[in-house]
Amino acid sequence: MRQLLLSADQFWSSLPKLHKLLSSVLAIMVFLLLLLSSQTAERNVRLPLQISEAEFGDMTADNSQRARLADYEYEIAKGDVLSGIFDTLRIPQKTMYEILETDLAVLALDTLKPGNKLSFWLDPASRELSKLEIEFSLAHRVTYVRAPGKGFEYNVTILPGDWQEEVLSGEVRGSFYLSAKRSGLTAGDIMSISALFKNKLNFNKGFRAGDQFQVVRAKQMVDGQETGETRVEAVRILNRKRELTAFLYKDSYYDETGTGLERAFSRYPLKKRYRISSPFNPKRRHPVTRLIRPHNGTDFATPIGTPIYSTGDGVVIESKRHPYAGIYIKIRHGQKYKTRYLHLSKSYVRKGQTVSRGQKIALSGNTGRSTGPHLHYELHINNRPVNAMSADIPIMTEIEGRERKPFKAKVAKELALMKANAS
Ligand SMILES: [Zn+2]
Repeated sequence: MRQLLLSADQFWSSLPKLHKLLSSVLAIMVFLLLLLSSQTAERNVRLPLQISEAEFGDMTADNSQRARLADYEYEIAKGDVLSGIFDTLRIPQKTMYEILETDLAVLALDTLKPGNKLSFWLDPASRELSKLEIEFSLAHRVTYVRAPGKGFEYNVTILPGDWQEEVLSGEVRGSFYLSAKRSGLTAGDIMSISALFKNKLNFNKGFRAGDQFQVVRAKQMVDGQETGETRVEAVRILNRKRELTAFLYKDSYYDETGTGLERAFSRYPLKKRYRISSPFNPKRRHPVTRLIRPHNGTDFATPIGTPIYSTGDGVVIESKRHPYAGIYIKIRHGQKYKTRYLHLSKSYVRKGQTVSRGQKIALSGNTGRSTGPHLHYELHINNRPVNAMSADIPIMTEIEGRERKPFKAKVAKELALMKANAS
């Protein structure tokens, strides 16, 4: 099988562009057909072309397994379903559910996007899955490693990387979104920017043709390669003769005068106090298997139908259903914070929507794997879960004291850079 794949790869690289495109379309169609047929009858599966022998060694830090090449590498394509990928590789659905159970603590498998890479390692003797790695980017990997006979444990690798700044600028013609896209900003960058100014400017109707914008954006690099992660460092918008600015300083955004653009967080996603039925505990162990099963959130004993409120201003990045997390919502708040709300009975928000602190986003429930009605609430700082009940969450609302000098220096530098690149 491997030889076959390898020669398929060689064949592939020898094809001209148009053929590649057509073959890709064909491969996807074949893949979809396979998925469809799998629901009705027994199949005689052949691996699709996207699966190739791993080119890179295992570079993760876990020592539970000797570094060796992955048995399969798979690049996520549009429309892929996890169960379809496992089926195609003949890895039992039971194994997939074991991984999903572990993933309840990270919810990484739910955020897979086209282009993300999955690597599968099989046990040489039993041919069972021994390790699965998701590469979201060069700087962000999640690994699930089998603990003999007991399911999987996970490991998250986040590299800081180097950040390189660039200025992107443009003029508004048509919608701001399309104009910003033309200048090279990503949908994520644009969402961050519109969330920052949402109280000052209506991003659907507030622009006039000819309005200008400049954005200093940093790109993350690891070993000289772009990881695909970006960060908005500064924004300047000239809107109908007024100037709106935002500057990132110590993970929060401020205007030119040093006034914070993000409001402080609420500690609780609920209006009333409810008993905490299970606290945050990163070292929790499963009572039987003794595997580490971190409890990355705080559980509140809320009856089904209790209104849930966003703890901060932000952008909804997930609103969906998970076999173990049930209906859940993930919200990004600026550069540093994320919150998650699990086991809901109803979500009132959709992916991409901006929300305000205190906005009703859902009703609590008992969906997914849950031992009774409750709300599971998580706060993440720089992609790491923290105890939402004790974490240092207030965002500085004003630049004061000894922060003034370095802040002013940053503003002067970024403003000069943006003005020099104004169109
Ligand atoms: Zn919980």
